[in-house]
Amino acid sequence: MKKFYITTPIYYINAAPHIGHAYTTVAADVLARYHRHRGTPVYLLTGTDEHGLKIEQAAKEHGVSPKEYADEISEKFRHLWKHLDVHYDDFVRTTEPRHEKKVQEVFAKLQQSGDIYKGHYKGFYCLSDETFWTETEAPADEKNIRRCPNADCRRPLQLVEEESYFFRLSSFQKRLLDHYQANPAFLSPEHRGKEILAFVREGLKDISISRAKVKWGVPVPGDAEQTVYVWFDALLNYVSAAAASPHASFEELWPADVHIVGKEIYRFHAVIWPAMLMALGLPLPKTVFAHGWWTVEGQKMSKSKGNFLDPYDITREFGIDAFRFFLLREMPFGNDGDFSLDSLRRRYNADLANDLGNLLNRVVDMVDRYLGGVLPKRFNPEKDFLPAKVAQRTAAYDECMQRLDFSGALGLVWGVISELNQYVNAQAPWKAAKTDMEKVKIILFDLVSSLRIVAGWIDPFMPHTAARIQSQLGVRQFPEALTAEQVLAGAQTSSGRIQKGPALFPRK
Ligand SMILES: [Zn+2]
Repeated sequence: MKKFYITTPIYYINAAPHIGHAYTTVAADVLARYHRHRGTPVYLLTGTDEHGLKIEQAAKEHGVSPKEYADEISEKFRHLWKHLDVHYDDFVRTTEPRHEKKVQEVFAKLQQSGDIYKGHYKGFYCLSDETFWTETEAPADEKNIRRCPNADCRRPLQLVEEESYFFRLSSFQKRLLDHYQANPAFLSPEHRGKEILAFVREGLKDISISRAKVKWGVPVPGDAEQTVYVWFDALLNYVSAAAASPHASFEELWPADVHIVGKEIYRFHAVIWPAMLMALGLPLPKTVFAHGWWTVEGQKMSKSKGNFLDPYDITREFGIDAFRFFLLREMPFGNDGDFSLDSLRRRYNADLANDLGNLLNRVVDMVDRYLGGVLPKRFNPEKDFLPAKVAQRTAAYDECMQRLDFSGALGLVWGVISELNQYVNAQAPWKAAKTDMEKVKIILFDLVSSLRIVAGWIDPFMPHTAARIQSQLGVRQFPEALTAEQVLAGAQTSSGRIQKGPALFPRK
């Protein structure tokens, strides 16, 4: 059976992971948990990109071999994903034999088909970005120096002239444009897709896909002088990992359902990668989604500014669930946004401690006080049945989640939480408790059931919080939260004892 196959980019190991990496990977995990929760078999792939000149040099600076260096940094990524509750199904490293073998196989196959040919390369190279630029992209300044066009880099470029293998990207222009048109979901979100369309319409040039003199890479089959260029190598991870997965067959995985990438690598994924797949005769992924960038306290994250936030520091202060929540609530997935500790604290106190935490607290407290912690059976549930009205929002929630609008989904959930808070105030069960206990039972039954539905919605984002809510609400199903349908189906039956636990989010 086909699995819903989600990928993150494989992360380049020139630095330890920061919130940018955490953002992409947590988003992929949230999407994976959402689909799993609905009963879809899911497969989440992540990994590390470990070849290239920059790694070779970084290893030398640290006095270790490139492989030792790669082992150390790659482990830091796995450690962080574990810490952030990311459940991936496979972790691919480009230095693994299963991957290197696939790269060589693909290279040889495309050479045979004529999609790869040997030529002469002249270009300007940025070592820091491992990117080649053309004369027009990087014009010489008055001192005849060419600088990297990347605004954060601006380092002087090196002229590189050497023999190289090329991928015949130019011949895929029409097929790519046809594919974009026939498959509107392929380029997402729409505004980033438009940039790709404009780029491809201008015409595509063949690209150099090998390097002479770089030793730390996959050797070009049959040519001892050359290694495969790090980008061509890295993109193939989505296929190499699926073809040699420890848990699934290639047919169960390919094509990928969603590649989640940052906007800075969108062209590679939306233009070069589908062209490579076309050349290989493989079906294309359904969606390539490019998310935006975080600035930190109003400034762009960069090595030179030294403003990389350490995810461990943030989670130590606010907890893992609050960090996951903030990343996906604060800015719409696909746009750019700003990460600041002030806004994190604000959302923590307002959305989590106040709106959600207090609501749960009040409801559980009243069930305990008025009903001895035992949820009664609901009477006459057809009339004004609050949980049924809440459950109806699942359709809109699903719609958001399916187009990776995480912030929209959470906005909708918090809209419901706010309505439930208003409902408590309007119904004032503490007043009714003096005169009409039947009414109190109905109100509390409805609130508990509605909160169980809310727990199911927030489960992909904050799995621990959802479990703690469920446990306080007497739900005995673990580890995953109930779906809205399950809550409604079981709404007439009794549950475990409802009892107050420690505050979900103590105020900061
Ligand atoms: Zn650069």
